[in-house]
Amino acid sequence: MSKIIDGKQLAQELRDSLKKEIIDLQEKYNNVPGLAVVQIGNVAASSVYVKAKTKSAKEVGINVIDHHLDEKISEKELLSLIDTLNNEKSVDGILVQLPLPKHINEQLILDSIHPNKDADGFHPLNVGKLSISPKNDQSLLVPCTPNGCLIMLKSLGIDLNGKNAVVVGRSNIVGKPMAQLLLKESCTVTITHSKTKNLPDICKNADIIIAAIGRAEYIKGNWVKEGSIIIDVGINRVSENLNGELKNKLKGDVEFIEAKKKAYAISPVPGGVGPMTIACLLKNTTTAFKNKFI
Ligand code: NDP
Repeated sequence: MSKIIDGKQLAQELRDSLKKEIIDLQEKYNNVPGLAVVQIGNVAASSVYVKAKTKSAKEVGINVIDHHLDEKISEKELLSLIDTLNNEKSVDGILVQLPLPKHINEQLILDSIHPNKDADGFHPLNVGKLSISPKNDQSLLVPCTPNGCLIMLKSLGIDLNGKNAVVVGRSNIVGKPMAQLLLKESCTVTITHSKTKNLPDICKNADIIIAAIGRAEYIKGNWVKEGSIIIDVGINRVSENLNGELKNKLKGDVEFIEAKKKAYAISPVPGGVGPMTIACLLKNTTTAFKNKFI
């Protein structure tokens, strides 16, 4: 029987510890971390994410400053808002919910966030720091999803040194930073992508698979090595025919039922990486607050 890595439970534990920490920070500094949440337009998925992030942040005691803007806002106006937030003392973290409308250059906006307030850890300076800083640097602002995956892996209490870790996907927000984090843990890391040859064979040799592709159940159970650990980042909405009725379901990138038969531990979708991503955003905001006093 493989273990199910319960992201909901781990995220709750992380939020509980942040809540305690923020009470201590309030006593020490007479202040709490502040997170500015910027949403442009009304993309349904973005609204769901923003709502969840805002609710969780408030629950742990973070002060949330909402900026919900019209989708017609110009790039210049958005840059000006970010400039204001960069200079606002009560704001420690800035989150710009992606995707942005097509007329706005996403990278330009992300680069304009002050690196010290980069709640998502996407700024090039923080990306660079992730690559060159020592393993236990607590001041780093680390991309939330891969950080959540690492916490899930560590929750198993196994020695990661020398493990063969295969990261499937090389995006800037998941795959690449995930590989950096695993490298810091002294895993032997292979990054794979859509042009990779023999992905099944590469996976069959993996002690750890991190799947971040965006294709439902693409990684088959028979690609999974006996006793391995699988973290499934994928979130895919699929329609399934249940007794003649079409129902929407969330599926990961891994064929869960089959992979579970062989894995030592596996994360589910939903209830796996998703909740950890939000909890890690709160962690970064708290880190950004504490960094002001170093
Ligand atoms: P991207 O689309 O940015 O990247 C997908 C990556 O998968 C690319 O590097 C792509 O390769 C690779 N890929 C695509 N097809 C294949 C294939 N057949 N074989 C191997 N690699 C392949 O996605 P993201 O990284 O942003 O997200 C990945 C998944 O994770 C999505 O389902 C997304 O919804 C989910 N996600 C979940 C989060 C959470 O909190 N749980 C947070 C962020 C994302 P190439 O570079 O060659 O195109």
